[in-house]
Order: sequence, then C-alpha cells, then structure tokens
Amino acid sequence: MQRKPSSPAFRDASRPVEERIADLLARLTPEEKIDQLHQCGVGDASPNNLAARADEFRPTYGSFILNGITADLALRNELQRRCVGESRLGVPAIFGCDVIHGYRAIFPIPLAQACAWDAGLVRRLCASAAEMARAHGVDWTFAPMVDHCVDPRWGRIAETFGESAHATGAFAVASVRGYQGAEHSIAACLKHFAGYGAAEGGRDYSFTGVSAQQLWEDHLPPFEAAVRAGALTVMSAFNDLNGVPASAHAELLTEVLRTRWGFAGLVVSDWNAVLQLVRQGFAADGAEAARRSFNAGVDLDMADGLFRAHLPALVRSGAVTAGRLDEAVARVLRVKFLLGLFERPFIEPSALTGAPPTEAQLALAYEAAVRSAVLLKNDGAVLPLAVTAGRIALIGPLATDGGALLGSWAQHGRGDETVTMAEALRARLPAGVGLDVAAGCAIEGGGEDGFAPALAAARAADAVVLCLGETGSMSGENASRATLRLPGRQEDLARAVATAAAGKPVVLVLVSGRPLELHTLEPLVPAILAAWQPGSAGGAALADLLLGRANPSGRLAITWPRTAGQIPIYHHERPRARGGREGAYQDIETAPQYPFGHGLSYAAFRFGELRLSAGSVGVGETLAAELEVANTGGRAGIATVLWFIRDPVASVTRPWRELKHFEPALLGAGEKRVFRWVIVPERDLSFPGADGARRLEPGRIEVWVGDQSRSFAVAG
Ligand code: BGC
Repeated sequence: MQRKPSSPAFRDASRPVEERIADLLARLTPEEKIDQLHQCGVGDASPNNLAARADEFRPTYGSFILNGITADLALRNELQRRCVGESRLGVPAIFGCDVIHGYRAIFPIPLAQACAWDAGLVRRLCASAAEMARAHGVDWTFAPMVDHCVDPRWGRIAETFGESAHATGAFAVASVRGYQGAEHSIAACLKHFAGYGAAEGGRDYSFTGVSAQQLWEDHLPPFEAAVRAGALTVMSAFNDLNGVPASAHAELLTEVLRTRWGFAGLVVSDWNAVLQLVRQGFAADGAEAARRSFNAGVDLDMADGLFRAHLPALVRSGAVTAGRLDEAVARVLRVKFLLGLFERPFIEPSALTGAPPTEAQLALAYEAAVRSAVLLKNDGAVLPLAVTAGRIALIGPLATDGGALLGSWAQHGRGDETVTMAEALRARLPAGVGLDVAAGCAIEGGGEDGFAPALAAARAADAVVLCLGETGSMSGENASRATLRLPGRQEDLARAVATAAAGKPVVLVLVSGRPLELHTLEPLVPAILAAWQPGSAGGAALADLLLGRANPSGRLAITWPRTAGQIPIYHHERPRARGGREGAYQDIETAPQYPFGHGLSYAAFRFGELRLSAGSVGVGETLAAELEVANTGGRAGIATVLWFIRDPVASVTRPWRELKHFEPALLGAGEKRVFRWVIVPERDLSFPGADGARRLEPGRIEVWVGDQSRSFAVAG
C-alpha cells in the first residue's frame, strides 16, 4: 500500500517555532542555507524583467530589499511566487524596506517627533507606517534608528530621536511596539549597532572613537531597551569603532547583544558593510571580510553578496563552523516563522496599496507636525499673527516647496501631492487679508535676482513670514555639512527682508533636518519657529501654528548650537575642571543658542514648587517627585515636564544634568495639574561603568525640573 506523503513538520503552523526551524534546517543543503543568508537589493527590477534576470534574483535567497521602486507590491509578490514556487523547499523570502517616518503619507522626521515628547504618538506613527508599508509588500522595516549623536553636521541627526539616551530608548521601545505590535505588523530593526552617530567631524561613514564609558552611557542603552522590548532584528553599523569595525565586532555583536542582553533575533549588516571591511583595512579581501563579519555575529549579509560568495569555502575549510552556519540560518528562519511568512507568503492588495494619503493618515501626520514644531522665540507675542486686514508677505524658497517638507528617507512620499506652506496659508487667511508669495532666492546657490520682488512684498506687508531652510537631501545618509548655516543666499535674503520690514512682525519658519546657525540672524527677527521637516501635513500644521489655530508645544530634543564651532554641545556634558569663563570660548558665548528642552507656547505655564515625597530612598523603595503646573494663559496648551537628575559625587563622574523622565499633558486655560515622577533607584539612579555593569551608589542625588532642584539621599 502506498503511503500518503506527509507534509513536513516545518510547514505545520501548530508546531512550536523552534521545532519547525530544526526540521527545516535538517532538510536544507549547505548551499541553500548560505543563500538564506543573502539579502539582495532589487534595484530597477520590475515584474516584467524578472524572468530575464533569474540568476540575479535566485528563489533561494533569504531576503530582498524593496527600496526606491514603484510597483512594490506586484514585484514583491512575483519575487515571492518564485521563492515559494520555484525553490526546492519553497522557503519564503522576507522583504525589507527603509520605512523611516511614514510611507506614502510622510510623518515628521524622527528628530522632530522626539520634540513632541510623546512615546504614544511615536507608537501610533509607527503603527500607521507599518500598515501603509505592508500594503506595499514590506515585511520588515530598517527602523528605528536609535543612534546617539551630538553633532548636527552629521546628516543622519535627522533620523535620531535627539541627544538623550533615555528619551531615545523610550522612543525606540515605542517604535518597536508600533511597528511590531499592531494588526498589520512588520518587523523592526534597531540600527546602527553601534556608535555610528559618533562619526568624526560629523562626516558620514568615518571613524568613531568612543570610550567604553560613553558607549555604555549614551550609545548602548537605547539598543538594550528596545531589544528587551522585543525588537526582532538589529543592523550592524558601518563605522570603525575604536579600531574594530562594528560589522565585525564580536564583542558587540555576540558578547553584548547575545550573551548580556539575550537577543535571539537576527543581525543584518548594513548595506555593503561586509565588503567595506576591506576598505577599512580590517580584511585583506572579500573572503576574510565574510569570515570576520560572520564569525563576529552578522547573520544576514545586506547587498554585497560576500557571504554567498565565500561561505561555501569557509565552511568546507572549517574557518566557519557548521554550527555557526546553522545558528545564523535559524535566526533568519525564526523571523520568517514569527511573521507568519510560511503561512501567508503573499500580501493581498488593500485599499491602501498605491493610494494617496488617506484622511486619517493626514490627520495623524498633522497632529505630529503640530506637536513637533518648536517655537524658539516669540518676542512681543508676535505670534500668533493677528492680521485681520492688509497683507502678509510669505518669503523664501521653502514657502512653495512641498518636497522639502518631507525630508530624507521619504522616497514613497510625493512632493507634488504635499500642500505647501503658501497653499495652506492662503486657504486659511481671512477674507480681506492678501498674501504675497516671493521665493527671494533658491535654497542652494543662485544670485540676488529674486531679492527685489521679495523686498517689495516685505515693504508692502503688514507682517512677514520668512520660510527658509534646507532641502530634504541636505540631511539623512551621506549628507554631512561642514557648517550649520542657511545654505545659498538665504541668510542674505533674511537680513535684507528683516531690514526692509523693520518694526513689523517678522517671523522666521525654519524647515530643516538639523538645528541651523542663527546667531547673526536671531537678533533681527522677533519670532522663530523650528518646523523641522514636518511631513505630508506640514504646510497645514505650520499655517495653523502661525495663525494661532494650533498652539506650539514642541520642546527641543537636541541642544541648538550657536555655530558649528560649539559642537559637540549637549545637555549631559560633564562639569569642566574650572568654572565661570575659564576654558570658555573667547569669541562666542559658551551657552548654546537654545538649550535642550527649550520651547515656547501661546499658553503660559507656571511651575509650582518642586516637592519630594521623602528625604531618602533605599534599594527596593521608590520616591516621588511632584510638580504642580498651572496654565495661567488664556488658551489650552500642552505642558511638557522634563525631569533631570544630577549625581554630584560618584565613583565615575556624572553629567551636569541627565534627562531621566518626561511627560507631556494638555492643560486647559486656568487648569492645574500635578506632574509626578516615581523614582525607582535601580532604574533611574544607577549608572554604568566602563565594563557596562550598572552600579547604584549611596550618596545625595539632585532632582531638577526647570530651574528648581531638591536633593535626597540614596541609602547604602
Ligand atoms: C543605511 C541604512 C539603510 C540601508 C538600506 C544603508 O546605506 O545606512 O540605514 O537601512 O542602507 O537601505
């Protein structure tokens, strides 16, 4: 009697994932295993040219990257059809994409999101991005980026959540929950592990010299928090970290990530990072690069194909063990099983596929854009603009540029369907108020030809809005700048306009992926609003903020330097050996243009007295810090309380201030609210040494909020 062929165990969704992995591993040939460790860029592939490029996109490959293509879902499903249908065991591929701040609807850049100080908002943004991305065939986003950076010359500062390790960790956790935890989940990827944000001079891809102390204090905690929150994948970074490139750093990738933190997911290298080990002088050739990276703990090789090319011989020679090979393949398969790719390899088109942003997505984008804009200056309450008759001049190259509002990593967003500031303002101005729009100059380069019409508009206006800043491509990857100055002729334009409009309300709106140098311009304009790159609903949000239909509530998640010469400058600096002016720059203030946490509102908040629930706290106990905040202004607004600590004497010197907790809350006009931070000593007051071990030392701790502080004792 013939026996009915039974379905292999790895296909049985009722079995435990580890059992399915073991079963599949036992069936895969060494070549098939190695193919699983290759992630292949799809470049300009389309469903129509796949057949002719069969060898380029083999159905046994583990993963494909969908960046920058148009027919995402059709291509993805066709590639998947080949993997599932034309490979011996039908192992589905996993499709990755950089979904950084939205997909078709673009949300504010991460740096801007951080200025809203609302982890719940970040989570909702990521869940929405996941839903959009999934409708276009994405299983896995290369986000969140949780790099620590204190150098705004580095273009990728735009992708960070600002300079606080605590806040970055909180937003990283929120991102992971947003991407992975919703109904339309995709896998998240923590990047770039580790130290990449310390690029020397802000020059992307450069050497990073980071002390062990800084690594444990600033760079690693956000990764650890998000690993513990269940992130499925981690990306190894490009940078040479103290002489060992991160993508071949066994101590980081294995000792820290696996042994200390228990990470069971997958490590993917950054794009060509394995190949770059040769250029970095850490490997003589591709074979050595593959061996060093793979043995250090990278599981999946993005783009360069070196694992595929060299692992067969490396395994045969014993330079790579069969056990390590199986371990890496198991990690790739684990993510696929957990995402349900074996049961649901294809993604059905949905109403979101190829669709322009929906009302709901735009409403979310609008909320985030309003929340993340930071009112830096508002002398004489120039804002909100109180123009009920006459003319407003909207001047600057960013006023009519929808694409620049989207920022970097917005390849699926559309500048041409993004409402510009000029359009949004025009639609909202009361009848009887005219709007004159003049670019004045280009964002970059160019001459003064446009100055005359801009100055004429400024002279004729009752109020002037200058809309200046950067293009989207001036920040993001490979977009370092040597200065933070407004590019092109914009600063000259602003100076000329401010002079022509002297005595009138002049507002500067900055659209940028980083803080920009303002120290010569700032005295000339009474009001400044940092919009960052606010995304698809940025035009509407900015118009509403200017007109007072929305109330600014963002607070800086990054210290705003006066000039690039002050870099690095950040809130958690350690006290200098001498105080006062000693050691300070002779030619510029030591203080930044705007400190970390700065941000104004149209409401007025009065802080009450900071109170502590006890004078001391011990291990296993908690202590509460409380602050009453009253909204004494005439309108509702969001107050954000940022709580800092200082440990004045410790076995390892501690920062001058260190952000440890934050909370935003909406307060109606006249409303009061008590903000409360429950301090857990082991979590909030301990700090790492250079060995990474956290210690909680007895002694006094200061709690800071605003300009008040109270101290308490930590019992030994
Ligand atoms: C970037 C990563 C990105 C990857 C894939 C690299 O160049 O550094 O952040 O995820 O490309 O697009």
